[in-house]
Amino acid sequence: MKSYISTRGKTEPHTFSKAVATGLAPDGGLFLPEALPDISSQLNAWIDLPYPELCFEFFKIFATDINPKTLKYLIDKSYAKFTHPEIAPLKQLDKKLFVLELFHGPTLAFKDFALQLLGNLYEEQIRQTGHPLNILGATSGDTGAAAIHGLLGKRGVNIFILYPNGRISNLQERQMTCTGSENVFPLAIEGSFDDAQKALKETFEDLDFRNHFYLSAVNSINLARILAQCVYYIFAWLKLPNDLKDNVEFVVPTGNFGNILAGWLAQKMGLPVKSFKAATNQNDILYRLFKTGEYKLDKVQPSLAPSMDIQMASNFERFLYYSEGQDSVRVTEIISKIKSTGNYNFENFNRDIFTTSRTNDDEIFQIIKEIHKKYNYIVDPHTACGFKDINNDMTSIVLSTAHPAKFPETITEAIGIEPKSDILEELKELKIIKYPIIAEKIAIQNFIKDHAV
Ligand SMILES: *Cc1c(COP(=O)(O)O)cnc(C)c1O
Repeated sequence: MKSYISTRGKTEPHTFSKAVATGLAPDGGLFLPEALPDISSQLNAWIDLPYPELCFEFFKIFATDINPKTLKYLIDKSYAKFTHPEIAPLKQLDKKLFVLELFHGPTLAFKDFALQLLGNLYEEQIRQTGHPLNILGATSGDTGAAAIHGLLGKRGVNIFILYPNGRISNLQERQMTCTGSENVFPLAIEGSFDDAQKALKETFEDLDFRNHFYLSAVNSINLARILAQCVYYIFAWLKLPNDLKDNVEFVVPTGNFGNILAGWLAQKMGLPVKSFKAATNQNDILYRLFKTGEYKLDKVQPSLAPSMDIQMASNFERFLYYSEGQDSVRVTEIISKIKSTGNYNFENFNRDIFTTSRTNDDEIFQIIKEIHKKYNYIVDPHTACGFKDINNDMTSIVLSTAHPAKFPETITEAIGIEPKSDILEELKELKIIKYPIIAEKIAIQNFIKDHAV
């Protein structure tokens, strides 16, 4: 049976299901497969598979402790609520320029790919163990909504989501707070996403509390999320015309480094992709890292692409684990240095595989206008960052991470057209229910105590 280890090396290997249920490893690290499989010889056989079947073939390799029939059922159910028949349609804008639309799920952002599945994995876990689960997450916008919709109305599980009050879009907030569902608790904190993330980590580091309430994480650190996100990279690559398959760059609007990391893992497993571009907004820690080798924390500046307003990219630790030669002691040292001093200098940093770009708010506007004019195609502000400095020598696949209708103000200002979505229109009629809270461990624990399953 495959096992899963922690980047910090102080957690005994877990089964797939246990690693998923646990979220953050008890030693504070992130779970990874003990060894990565080689999928390259299977790619040909996967070429015509519909999305859920490809996902099943891929997960079979990892979720070896789940009965295949059950696994198939959980995966089919996870993608049944997507509104596009292809689930992740690949659209060609130009000869060598493609957009992979990842916004056809229930909350209209790419996070549905992982969180619909994670919700069903949790439900199965609860069914098998008989234990309830309390899920805690932090969001800069889309994760919370996607997590909530992955767990909406499920039995035996309550979900608590911290988010920075006033710093996410009105519609993003409505997606979390207008569910009318009794197992959902949106917690509005004063501060930034990083403040929320920090309070969340501290709450998890209290092992007694965590065990007592069967607390699990739903933010981008969960192993199942990363694996679910590998699938659309494979799917997209398989859909490319044969003559464009050799020299491919995926362009990924990046914040927490979860999405791009999944692509990079797929490459390490044998998907023949040349490079990945980390497209940041003005919060450019990863841009600076990939340009200079220096990881240096800065203040978060709210932008038009709020789901990328991040400085501490939590999934970076998984990348570090491999780039430091799977040496968990080094990983632990580097992370603690970054935590205490706010920066770290990487020597011998391999910059061939990751390219990078940075887009400020003015440029986001310009790009939305240009793409609309040139291709009659509307991109949301996050996706817009992906269109900066496209490398024309390569086949570029830009990941479209959100539906433009989630950001109507920006789009309308840029091109004079208001993008619409029926799902979002219906939300406008419903009542907002949220719980203001201080971003501190004690306050969060007290709230959970009062509202746990
Ligand atoms: C979460 C999110 C991102 C950033 O993804 P990461 O995995 O955090 O790098 C980009 N765009 C949108 C719309 C998102 O919701």
